Amino acid sequence: MKKSALVWIRRDLRLHDHAALAAATQRAERVAVVFVFDTEILKHLQDRDDRRLTFIHGCLKEVDEQLRAEGSRLIVLHGDPVEEIPRLAAQLQVEELHFNRDYEPYAIQRDALVTARVSAEVHHHKDTVVMEADEVRTGSGGPFKVYTPYGRAWRNTVRERDLAERVVHPGHWWPAQDLGATSSLPSLEDLGFQPGNLFITPGTQAGTSRLLQFGQRMAHYGERRNFPAEDGTSNLSPYFRHGALSIRQAFRYAATLPSEGSEKWQAELIWREFYQMILAEFPHVVRGAFKPEMDAVEWQHQPDHLQAWIQGQTGYPIIDAAMRCFRATGWMHNRLRMVVASFLTKDLLIHWQEGESYFARMLLDFDLAQNNGGWQWAASTGVDAQPYFRIFNPKLQSERFDPKGEFIREWVPELTGLDGKSIHAPAESGPLELLAAGVTLGQNYPRPIVDHATQKPLAIQMLASIAPVKA
Ligand SMILES: Cc1cc2nc3c(=O)[nH]c(=O)nc-3n(C[C@H](O)[C@H](O)[C@H](O)COP(=O)(O)OP(=O)(O)OC[C@H]3O[C@@H](n4cnc5c(N)ncnc54)[C@H](O)[C@@H]3O)c2cc1C
Repeated sequence: MKKSALVWIRRDLRLHDHAALAAATQRAERVAVVFVFDTEILKHLQDRDDRRLTFIHGCLKEVDEQLRAEGSRLIVLHGDPVEEIPRLAAQLQVEELHFNRDYEPYAIQRDALVTARVSAEVHHHKDTVVMEADEVRTGSGGPFKVYTPYGRAWRNTVRERDLAERVVHPGHWWPAQDLGATSSLPSLEDLGFQPGNLFITPGTQAGTSRLLQFGQRMAHYGERRNFPAEDGTSNLSPYFRHGALSIRQAFRYAATLPSEGSEKWQAELIWREFYQMILAEFPHVVRGAFKPEMDAVEWQHQPDHLQAWIQGQTGYPIIDAAMRCFRATGWMHNRLRMVVASFLTKDLLIHWQEGESYFARMLLDFDLAQNNGGWQWAASTGVDAQPYFRIFNPKLQSERFDPKGEFIREWVPELTGLDGKSIHAPAESGPLELLAAGVTLGQNYPRPIVDHATQKPLAIQMLASIAPVKA
């Protein structure tokens, strides 16, 4: 057995079912755990109260407490990991460095630089996904570009060992007193930030409780997952994003609750794997369209409309409710993400990358692969995307998925007086009805900034000139 190892945690902020920790604690007698607040990432954060940082900080606090309970502690550094990790590995004189693989272009480059600089033996592991890009292939050996056959192949390929717990061996932690002057978890203020408001509690314990609660509703997931006013989905994406929960554990747990709902939920987890695979195989999606010809689409530059969308002042209640909820919480229901993304790109005709970057700034569960995949799906520029001629009608989406207007009432209180029919399109209501509800269009609620019926053919024309697919 080798003597000592360092495990660098990044988007895997937990101490159980963890591939890198399992390998390190199996191979080494003393294992130290480190996290680096990466200045390369922090310098791009626009908001001092960035919620992701607060969530990450909460997860790290839990990891640190658990390590302290076992006589060790978490090392936390602040700087460039390319400098910091090799320096720490040298200071601790570890024989091995372990980390879990990350498929984002920045992370791949960073990890290659660290690997080149560190003198310890480097071991990297599969952990963030169950199946990596090169493990699920088409018959001819290439990557899939359509989700349904990918999902089928994923299910046919996955083996028990892919889902098995990566057992972290107890008693191998580096004693705290031997960690010398290495630094501990700083406060958010020390990092130049301040706490952001969170609608969920960070950490493995809270994530696991949420998973168990969702288990009681999982059977109904298929019927309930599209209604933003209901508690129909798991709200677990921030835990998966930051690795507070193990993705293998989620699949294993879902398999213990067989039902149509459980199958459907697992299919969504496989969408997550699909988009991770797309990012790994086609990293050009970070810079432009998955279908490169779609980069020629002439999107409109409309700063006023973009601002109205961001502020929830478009005059389309479902869009405004979704965007206001988003600004207040950093969270948006999947149905609404699809509807607001379609509205931005196909009603306002604004470039999907503008929406992508606003989401990247705000989403508590922001994940480059998923967010990019979602935006390119909505804009019809992506892999297995929504066909360009299929355009959500915001009023119909609202009537269908928020039938009583409950979600709208919560976030657009100025419309509360309207009945369940009028609330989806106040501009179509009669003057007396608006008066009785206390709604004055253009004063306490905006008139629609565009007309969906007018914009739809414009969007089709704009996209059809580049992607002439028959309707
Ligand atoms: C424009 C747009 C942007 C998005 N950006 C992100 C993002 O940055 N991060 C993110 O995690 N998801 C993103 N999604 C996917 C999806 O909206 C969220 O994963 C989902 O809303 C999270 O809620 P939940 O945990 O309750 O999901 P559940 O319905 O409980 O699903 C379980 C898990 O499956 C995964 N999942 C669910 N739906 C999808 C999907 N459509 N694509 C990929 N994975 C999925 C998530 O990890 C989720 O936690 C985006 C979707 C769109 C349309």
